[in-house]
Amino acid sequence: MPSNQAPVLALAPELTDEQVARFKSRLQEQALALSEQDGELRARLAAEESVTANTFVAGIEGAMAAEADDEVIALLHHEQTELAATRQALERIENGEYGFCTECGDPIGAARLEVLPQAHLCVGCQDMLEHRQGR
Ligand SMILES: [Zn+2]
Repeated sequence: MPSNQAPVLALAPELTDEQVARFKSRLQEQALALSEQDGELRARLAAEESVTANTFVAGIEGAMAAEADDEVIALLHHEQTELAATRQALERIENGEYGFCTECGDPIGAARLEVLPQAHLCVGCQDMLEHRQGR
């Protein structure tokens, strides 16, 4: 009797519909929470010096912000990055591209997405990117 049972997949190459649905609702919740945070942070900024708020509107990068606002701006910047990543992940779900590395096309892996549902790079590409950025 040859044992020709289907091999256990070592790499779980694709996500099940159920997994994608679960990641999708997590991403939607995350996007909502981030938008709320965005509103709060902007309100905090606006409540502080209006000069700083105005420079912020002109762009985080060029803003010479008062030290007191640095933290809020850093949070806002981080939050916007996260929100963009979350929205892009939701778009990739709609396009059926979710779960694959946008750099090399390899599956990102359910375990990684479990930790970071908005991840768009596999571990290998993420590492390379961080090395390129000198971190
Ligand atoms: Zn990759």
